Amino acid sequence: MPHDHHDHDDDHHHAHDHAPPQPDDKVHSYYQILGIALKELLVEKGVVTAGEVRAAIEKRDQTTPAFGAKVVAKAWSDPIFRIRLLTNANAAVAELGFPMTTTQLVAVENSEDVHNVVVCTLCSCYPRELLGLPPAWYKSRAYRARIVQEPRAVLAEFGTHLTDKVEVRVHDSTADMRYLVVPQQPAGTEGLSEDELAALITRDSMIGVTEVNWSA
Ligand code: FE
Repeated sequence: MPHDHHDHDDDHHHAHDHAPPQPDDKVHSYYQILGIALKELLVEKGVVTAGEVRAAIEKRDQTTPAFGAKVVAKAWSDPIFRIRLLTNANAAVAELGFPMTTTQLVAVENSEDVHNVVVCTLCSCYPRELLGLPPAWYKSRAYRARIVQEPRAVLAEFGTHLTDKVEVRVHDSTADMRYLVVPQQPAGTEGLSEDELAALITRDSMIGVTEVNWSA
């Protein structure tokens, strides 16, 4: 469908009739507008600088589940670190360069007898310093409600089939308490290096909805 764009700058030759939508053209939701207004107010009042906000966003975007995987691989490889992680997780992850200064972290370990899984029933609390941003399903109403009511059924939907002998523990995160699941180390991986182990450890296994799989 041809369009006449008489207002175009004739010095430029456009390869197509329609300019692609620019990111700024999208309609912001209520909460996005609230967020922008709050940020502008904090900058205007001198509480934070725009540079500090930018740096915090950049740091958040660079945080990936690889950080958590490094922690778990270290716990699998180093029994003393494992005990430190299970007894004082904040101090243990800070040792590896992942400080969590505003929330308490609790590491919960899976075994033959116990399977741990994490949720935030209220909203989307998550160990972001170790896993980055939470997946969409973690924030969904369905997961938040069902993992508490029927954890075995939800785990089965993730492909995690547990026998009745395994106790399932569901941990509800809060604004100041976050959980990291230490999955079971798969048999046969004892000879692997920490980096090789870390490559096996998935985000979902550290939320507790899956196990870590390995085949030689
Ligand atoms: Fe939350």
